[in-house]
Amino acid sequence: SLEAREVTAWFGDRKVLDRVSLTMPAGRITALIGPSGCGKSTFLRILNRMHELVPSAALAGEVLLDGDDLYDPQFKLTDARRAVGMVFQKPNPFPAMSIRENVLAGLKLTGTRASRSDKDDLVEQCLTRGGLWNEVKDRLDAPGGGLSGGQQQRLCIARSLAIRPKVLLMDEPCSALDPTSTRVIEETMKELAQEVTIVIVTHNMQQAARVSDQCAFFLAAHGTPGVIVEHGDTEAMFSRPRDQRTADYVHGRF
Ligand code: ATP
Ligand code: MG
Repeated sequence: SLEAREVTAWFGDRKVLDRVSLTMPAGRITALIGPSGCGKSTFLRILNRMHELVPSAALAGEVLLDGDDLYDPQFKLTDARRAVGMVFQKPNPFPAMSIRENVLAGLKLTGTRASRSDKDDLVEQCLTRGGLWNEVKDRLDAPGGGLSGGQQQRLCIARSLAIRPKVLLMDEPCSALDPTSTRVIEETMKELAQEVTIVIVTHNMQQAARVSDQCAFFLAAHGTPGVIVEHGDTEAMFSRPRDQRTADYVHGRF
């Protein structure tokens, strides 16, 4: 599992998250919800050490992956990125690279070696788990940029899977996609959740209700830093929210 403990984040002097704690258990899908600007993407980037790429960014607290602190100097940055993959809002395959090369691209970045036949197996396995294999198996050498938006997003998921992450973070992965592709990706996520811890940010409450097991509601009221107002089982949070602000948000009264 992945556990954030008392995570506080700043950009310059501005505190944008205040002591956020959340456990994201293995085998479950966690949805992060909340209004724009409350720090969901920042929190997600902290979970795979992308936050520190911003020069003005600072951080306090701990992120534990199966009990090991991701921010311990002993934990190498490449190992952190390998263990915690990320899929973004806008599908970003390498457009000129073939579908096959896209899946394998992550291996180069992490310096993982594999033989030709191992690579073939890996490409098939990752595209299958990403829910794209049947659609592309006859054109693995075609450019990734030639796929539809929904297919490109599944290619990005397959590319993330190739480095065998323990956790897959997804920041609004369907907001650029049509409803059909969205459903296909949701099904893919549910399948993947058996083996990978999934954390998804979404503005779509129906999507949060359909895919997630647990939910965390973030809020940054009137320029104050983002906090988690409420978290728990999705079902309970949608039907019996404990906090009035959660009720207002999940029912679209914000
Ligand atoms: P949205 O739903 O619109 O994607 P969010 O919940 O993902 O919003 P964040 O992108 O995490 O929100 O932003 C949280 C706060 O941090 C915002 O006030 C934003 O302006 C600020 N912020 C985000 N990235 C940076 C950055 N690179 N430099 C300075 N401030 C930033
Ligand atoms: Mg965001």
